[in-house]
Amino acid sequence: MKLKWLGTAGFQVDTGGQVFLIDPYFSRNPKAKPVQTLQPCDISDTGQIFLTHGHSDHIYDIPAIMAHGGATVYCSEIAAGTLVREGVDKGRIHIVKGDAYKVDFDSYKAEAFFSRHIKFDKELMEQTLLRIGPDYHRLGNMHSQYPAGQVLSWRFTFGRFTMHHFGSGGSTPEELARLATNPLDVLMIPLQGHTHICDIAFEYVRELKPHMVIPHHQDDFYPPLSTYVDIAPFVKAVKERCPSTEVRVMAMNETITL
Ligand SMILES: [Zn+2]
Repeated sequence: MKLKWLGTAGFQVDTGGQVFLIDPYFSRNPKAKPVQTLQPCDISDTGQIFLTHGHSDHIYDIPAIMAHGGATVYCSEIAAGTLVREGVDKGRIHIVKGDAYKVDFDSYKAEAFFSRHIKFDKELMEQTLLRIGPDYHRLGNMHSQYPAGQVLSWRFTFGRFTMHHFGSGGSTPEELARLATNPLDVLMIPLQGHTHICDIAFEYVRELKPHMVIPHHQDDFYPPLSTYVDIAPFVKAVKERCPSTEVRVMAMNETITL
């Protein structure tokens, strides 16, 4: 299986038989770092798209990607409403209405779990407002047009190999304890949205005990709304306190084979 990080929470997975995307987002803005040269029209061989929630940095490019190929999308109800508003045919949208929703494909299985969005903390909100200044109304308006809806996390199974993707880091201890009952090979965890995100992400690793963790979403995807997140404290904590978990920091558009 080949895994490619697309920036933000986006990944492309090639199982050998099928290609699917998770939270693909390319549009960013001209000041974003790193620069993403891929565009939605470059992605046409995707069978499925799995979405964690409806915020713009997760959902925005899905209508354009779907316009260039035959993909179907799996998401929760509010996000489905956004996609329909943006021109996606209802017949290509599968709505995840319940927890532990399962779908079985030829070369992999996908399972959705109800999760939560991280709560932006006061310090992060203040820093963000200082950065965006007069852009507040435009960016606030964009945010309100893309409501999160029910947040999902996605578990993918390839034979005995299991990979779990979170698009936001708001899971409760109960949610993580429940997910921890299954062994996990690869955890993909977003490091964005909270001043103490390195500590929060570390709790996911401590609880889920994956063989490998891939941090994502730390890139500066939409400045000044975003800023680069220094993930070094997270990497250090995992190496020191969970030495059986390998930390794999990917470069944008890098592909690894698992
Ligand atoms: Zn979000």
